[in-house]
Amino acid sequence: QKKIVIIGAGVVGCSTAYYLSKMGQRDITVIEQGPLFETGGSTSHAPGLVFQLSFSKVLTTLASQTVETFKELSSDGQPSFYSVGSLEVANTQERLEDLKRKAGVGTSWGMEAYVLSPEECVEKCSLINPDNILGGLYVPSDGIAKPLRAVDIMAKFAESCGTKFYGHTEVTGIKVVDGQVKAVETNAGSFEADLIICCAGFWGPRIGEMVGVTIPLQPIAHQYIFSNDLEELASESGEVTIPLIRDQDNAMYFRQVFNGLGIGSYQHRPLPVEVSEITKYGEGKEMPSVKPFTPEDFFEKPWQDAQGLIPGLTQAGVKKGINGIFSFTPDGMPLLGESQKVRGFWVAEAIWVTHSAGVGKAMAEWIVNGAPTLDLELCDINRFDTYAQSPAYYKKRSIENYEKVYDIHHPFMPPETSRDMRVSPYHMRQKALGAHFNEKSGWEQPQWYEANDSLVAMYENMILKRTGWAAKYWSPIIEAEHLHTRQYAGLYDMTAAKKRLEISGEGALEFLQQLTTSNIDIPIGHAMSTLMLHELAGIKDEIKVIRTAATTFFILCTGAVEASWLKKHLPVSNRVVIQDLTASTCSLSVIGAKASEIMYSLDPRTFTRSKWELGQAKEIFIGNVPVLAIYDSYVGTQRWEFFTTLDQGLQLWDLLFNVGEQYQLIAAGDRALENLRIESLSFRNGKDFWSEHDPYEVGLDHMVDLTKSTFIGKTALLDRKEKGPKLLLTPLILDDPSIVVMGYEPVFDEEKASGFVTSAGYDYSMGKGIVYALLLPETVNKGNELSIEYFGQRYTTKIMSNSAVITK
Ligand code: FAD
Repeated sequence: QKKIVIIGAGVVGCSTAYYLSKMGQRDITVIEQGPLFETGGSTSHAPGLVFQLSFSKVLTTLASQTVETFKELSSDGQPSFYSVGSLEVANTQERLEDLKRKAGVGTSWGMEAYVLSPEECVEKCSLINPDNILGGLYVPSDGIAKPLRAVDIMAKFAESCGTKFYGHTEVTGIKVVDGQVKAVETNAGSFEADLIICCAGFWGPRIGEMVGVTIPLQPIAHQYIFSNDLEELASESGEVTIPLIRDQDNAMYFRQVFNGLGIGSYQHRPLPVEVSEITKYGEGKEMPSVKPFTPEDFFEKPWQDAQGLIPGLTQAGVKKGINGIFSFTPDGMPLLGESQKVRGFWVAEAIWVTHSAGVGKAMAEWIVNGAPTLDLELCDINRFDTYAQSPAYYKKRSIENYEKVYDIHHPFMPPETSRDMRVSPYHMRQKALGAHFNEKSGWEQPQWYEANDSLVAMYENMILKRTGWAAKYWSPIIEAEHLHTRQYAGLYDMTAAKKRLEISGEGALEFLQQLTTSNIDIPIGHAMSTLMLHELAGIKDEIKVIRTAATTFFILCTGAVEASWLKKHLPVSNRVVIQDLTASTCSLSVIGAKASEIMYSLDPRTFTRSKWELGQAKEIFIGNVPVLAIYDSYVGTQRWEFFTTLDQGLQLWDLLFNVGEQYQLIAAGDRALENLRIESLSFRNGKDFWSEHDPYEVGLDHMVDLTKSTFIGKTALLDRKEKGPKLLLTPLILDDPSIVVMGYEPVFDEEKASGFVTSAGYDYSMGKGIVYALLLPETVNKGNELSIEYFGQRYTTKIMSNSAVITK
């Protein structure tokens, strides 16, 4: 039993206490500065609309778990959830198409959703003007939550299991000893703690400051208005019966409130609130989460749009409005998990009512079992590198997210604010070549180069032309760079691709052996790809380990979350040191048929092919530049990857580029590299598999050495192996080469939804679309023809090989 202190008794704090209690924790204290349970936080004002379905799998799952939880909570026959369904209407053709795509994603995530005509929308909700819309997405299981009722019931349950709730008690400090939390200080005394969970809503950053942890969220005021009664609802009992309505083209949502409507608007200018300005309960006239209504932001346009969609509002008029505050983050995702900076300091922040109980469940699993069953990488508090912890960065990005919350989001749409945060030393060369940049982990990463425009004519007959959604944020140059790399060679900036760590010290080998699934006691000068698993045997990451000395390893891992996983497991003794080299180093790859020729002509003594085996790594000089060089066959062709320090990166670029010119080497972008990866049947962490999957499900079991005596996750892995896979990652071929799907589309075996797409690209060697999908094992074993649904249409696809999973 751990001594757990939860800060905040809003819907998130109470959901977490509820699930921890359900999982047998009996020493929980919840501390709340306001009264219990109408505390004055965001939960006290949340109208509780629950639109579960989004393009994010994790958010959709958290939402559906919240609905499942709330449905079971009722007191005196009063439910905490009203399943009235939801309608998301389209005013534009583009939105209608997006809703079709969303309905498909609903199938992928196991949520019923379908697109209706305007007339069918009116059948669901007669308040709507059908002339104002082109159609709508109907999700029958959506509805309205009663967060305060749910909080009350969950708190009572937790209390019955021994949880203690303290209202009117303010947390004023946190005691940390040797990097581990020990106690929570309040105005009513001190509470001992092994583990603290910060569920303080938009006050979270203040709690974070108490332990030196940045909680990168921005409180923003958001308008919510109540109409007077509508004639059409006059005869109703006041019980909520009409579906939720969302009009994303006009950035508004509607729900029934007795015989009138509640209307939320994101259309207004962003209204950020400084954390330092926020009061606590009792300090002001209003509750702390409410700012005075600013009518000018509503009456100028949103009110006209609202009446256009629901004409009955004209007669009803507006009763009152509030500017209610809640939290936004730089990437729109919640902030969850234990901070890598302070052991025992957990956060559950920036969470909507929609995801609250799902988060409570996941947090409880994570704390009690060591890992949640749901993959939470995208929500992990440790996902932000240092650059992203600057208030200037996260405030601007969070405001951008507020403004775009209801926009149509394309997977390749670059962010607009806080750009040029991190640039590689070749940035100026890339700009001169007309690079189109996107951002990855703060780095400006070239997607393709205008300088390669002339190649489009050269490969014209082979290039697959894209249309519609797939043609957005795309250029035929991407395809030309891909083809040219296969035929000649491309110079790729890999600086943003991975995090670079050096792990050294007497205990380094032992430490890494415990974390990885292969025997990484490899010779000095060799590289090996291996897996890190979590306690439940899900894949935490696929990493590359390069042994540079007996007790020194250079590691390439996916990102900040994976790096924090390594740091979290560091032994308390100082026999192992982890140094993050990401910000001080850069990386370049020469890839393609001519890669070895180019390197040979640069330095014949060093780059004689006979001196290099696949997977070999050497510390060498290229000209004056000291590099760690690795030779491998990533993306199915010769590749030389070089790492050096930032100060000499530009020299390296120039050396490689100049010598490569005679071999037709081009600078090529990340989009071509991604397609090369897909073409070469190489699966990627975070894209094709994540921590819900084990190595057997995704064809990476060749990276598992079960003869190794122990590694994290081994016991659970043996169990999972015995039980068999839940899904299998499987390459598929699309019959129609003109269809380029983008990811997350559902796959059907006749009429049965059987899985979903992860990555998709085009295989130029076959002249066909290639798709990876996570499929039910029975579907894979049948090996028959399947179909993929894309924008509401079905396209035939076939499994690529007889084997269930093609191994690399
Ligand atoms: P809170 O409810 O704010 O709880 C945090 C608690 O921590 C507070 O009670 C606070 O007093 C306490 N605390 C803070 N600091 C301390 C301290 N030092 N010591 C002790 N206690 C402390 N979400 C939806 O899903 N659907 C919607 O339709 C929706 N609409 C919204 C409309 C409006 C107008 C608003 C304001 C919010 C809306 N939201 C909606 C968002 C949702 O309400 C919030 O995201 C959610 O309630 C946050 O819950 P929480 O428990 O994290 O935070």
